[in-house]
Formats: sequence, structure tokens, C-alpha cells
Amino acid sequence: MPLPIMMKAALLTDYHAPLEMAEVPVPQIGSDEVLVQIEASGLCFTDVHIWKGEHAPPSLPLIMGHEGVGRVVAVGSTATRFQVGDCVGIGYVYGACGHCRDCRTGGENYCSDFTATGYATPGCFAEYVALKDQWASKIPNGIDAIEAAPLMCAGAAAYASLKKTGVQVGDTVAIFGMGGLGQYCVQLAKLSGLRVIAVDVADDKLATAKTLGADECVKADEGAGAAIQELGGAHGCVNFAPVTATWPMMLDACNPRATIVLTGVPAGEMAFYTYQLVERGLMVRGSSASNRQEMAELLALAAGGRVKGVINAVPFAQINEALLDLNAGKVEGRTVLTMGEYKLMDLKLTAKTALITGASMGIGAHVAETLAAEGVHLHLTARSAEKLETLKAEIAKTSDVSVTLHPLDLTSRGRTGRLGAGNLQCGYSGQQRWRNSQWRLVGR
Ligand code: ZN
Ligand code: ZN
Repeated sequence: MPLPIMMKAALLTDYHAPLEMAEVPVPQIGSDEVLVQIEASGLCFTDVHIWKGEHAPPSLPLIMGHEGVGRVVAVGSTATRFQVGDCVGIGYVYGACGHCRDCRTGGENYCSDFTATGYATPGCFAEYVALKDQWASKIPNGIDAIEAAPLMCAGAAAYASLKKTGVQVGDTVAIFGMGGLGQYCVQLAKLSGLRVIAVDVADDKLATAKTLGADECVKADEGAGAAIQELGGAHGCVNFAPVTATWPMMLDACNPRATIVLTGVPAGEMAFYTYQLVERGLMVRGSSASNRQEMAELLALAAGGRVKGVINAVPFAQINEALLDLNAGKVEGRTVLTMGEYKLMDLKLTAKTALITGASMGIGAHVAETLAAEGVHLHLTARSAEKLETLKAEIAKTSDVSVTLHPLDLTSRGRTGRLGAGNLQCGYSGQQRWRNSQWRLVGR
């Protein structure tokens, strides 16, 4: 099939302004590049920094996005690693010089000549992206694009940070900040045979950490360091929280010769008394992105389906809302933009009433609004009663279909099943938090 000439892309043309959805030329690949048709593209907080001009790129307009996963559709003449049809991904490191001391010793992400995807080169908030053959990662079988996308930056950064603690099987690691990176780190630490203490200010985030395998949960307040000491202390600490408040907690939490790894980048300074490090032999290390070996190890772990993200899948067309939500701190876990069109009518939809689970946001809300516009009466379920009410009010502005709300726990499948009995003919399977969402029929 011939490749299209033009593609949809979200362009950053001005800081703080909505991204402009535009038709731009599909990238021409160089001889050492592959062209990838993006299927899923993760939204990272680095994108928010770039969008606000806090991490200003070399030039505008820019296509951001550095958690892209998709299929190879064309290969350059000297690009030998991939074939058309392979599933590949790209993270923040688009490429590096390849011959400096750092590049030759597994530190290509610290190369002074490294190029950042979606920052110095056009990124993955587009239908197609050109990638360096030597720097793209093959996505193993058994992991879908939506699960794989956030691994390319968040998962890889979490894994690289954990490794830098140098902790051994059976040791205790305290992980500060239970956002997307923290959630990946908890799972990776458990897979590495570690005892995990999760630390956050928010009770609901700690509850999620527990379900992901954390052995202990500690509230991030002034007593956190002492609380961790009561639990035996930490042999390593990793900080993903974008605040300096966790720094004294980590100093208190450390056992002798522990390593503190800093990954989150708060704006302020972190102070310490020299004796705090010297007398206990502590080490403090920074960690940014990952090298290709760490990426390969992470993908090998994820191939068995053992690393799951808490993921909100959102249609690419809603990228601006997703960016605002992330900036406002409204998102739990990672947001992943899905590039495919949602072809509702492919279902030969004849239903007069539909049940949509996971309806409060993202694709679920998009589908609800689309069906309401088609005159379909709705039963909507989601965990958040408040978000359902907001959606109902939104639908009422443009449609007079009946909308019945059923706030409930999505993990109890039987309850949605009972709702589905009788007159409901079409449903949307939510469970977006754990896996790729798909349309499916639930009834007649
Ligand atoms: Zn990122
Ligand atoms: Zn280099």
C-alpha cells in the first residue's frame, strides 16, 4: 500500500497555547532510519514542561511526544535491524554520537550530543515518525501498543533509577512519589526480589501502590523517615516526587551505606549537613532517562505481561484536554493517546440503548457523547459519580436522550453484567486502568 503524503500531527506553535491539529507532510526517512506508523503515544510530564516553555525546544513549531509505539512501514537503505511490520518504540533518546566515552560505556543518555525525541526532532504526537534504526526498540510479542508506550520513558526511567540504588535481593527500597514512574518502580522492585516501601502524600495513591505489590505504605509527612526506620530502614531510596519535601525524609529513612537516587526534578535546592552523608557513608546519585540496555531489560520483563501500567487511554484528537488534565494534576497513572479512529458504526449498531463502562473520561466519555449524538439512550458507569454527573450535564446541552448513571466499582464485573441484561444491546468495555480498551457487544 503506498504511503500517504500528508499526516495528522499536533503542533506546538506557541507556549501555553492549545496544540494545533494540522496536516503536515509524512517525514522522509534517511538511509539509516525507519518510518513508523504510530499506534499509541504516551503523554509525559516532560511534554508539559516543553509546552509551557520551561524546557524550551530549539525551534517551533514542534511535534512533541517521546513515548511512541507503532509498526514499521518503510526502512532506509542501510537500516537493517527491522522489517516492515515490526512493532517498535522510541523513548526520549532519539540518538547520540555513538563514539564518546559515555556512549561507549552505557551512558548514551548522558552523551553531550544526544538528541531528544519530540524536542530536538519531530516526535510521536503524529501519525508517522522517522526513527534511527539503531535507536528504536523492538517491542516483544505479548505486549500491546497502549501498554508499551509509557514504558518507553516512564517505565525505562523507573527501571534505570531502581538499578542505580544498587540494592540486592532481599533488601528494602523506599520509593517516593506514586505517580506513573513510582507505580512502575514498585512492580519492578518486586520482580527484582526486593521489599518495597511506597511513600506518597495521597492515601488513594498508596492504596494503588499496595495493589501493585508494595509491602508497606508510608504517608509522606514529617514522620515518614522515622516510620521507615521503624520498618527496618531503607537500603536504597528513589525519589520521583517533584518536591524537595521528600529529601529530609529520605536522609532519615536511609540505613548506613544506602544510596539515594534522584529522578524527579523539583525546582528548589536540597540541603544537608555533611555529617549526614559522611558518617553513614550514604551516596546520592542522579538518574535521567535510560540507556538502550536498560530499555531492553525492561521490555524483556514486560514481555511476560508482568509489568502493568495504570493507563488512561484517550483518542489522539483529545490531546489538548489530556495535556490540560495532566498539567492540572488530575491524572492518575499515565495518559496514552491512541491513534486509530473509533469506528462505532463498524458494529452495525442498531441499539437504542447502550451501556458504557469506564464512561467518565477519555475514550469512554468520547463514545458516550458520540452515541448520544446518534440518539442512543445511555447507561453510564464509572467509579467517579462526580465525573459522571459532569458528563451527563455535558450531554444534556446537545442531546435529549435519557442518561442513567450507575457509579460503581468497575472491578466487580457481575454488576455491569446484570445491568446489561434485557434491553441493552451494546456496551463499551472499560477496565482502561489495566488494559487496552476495546469495543465489544454485551448482549443481544
Ligand atoms: Zn518522558
Ligand atoms: Zn556520545
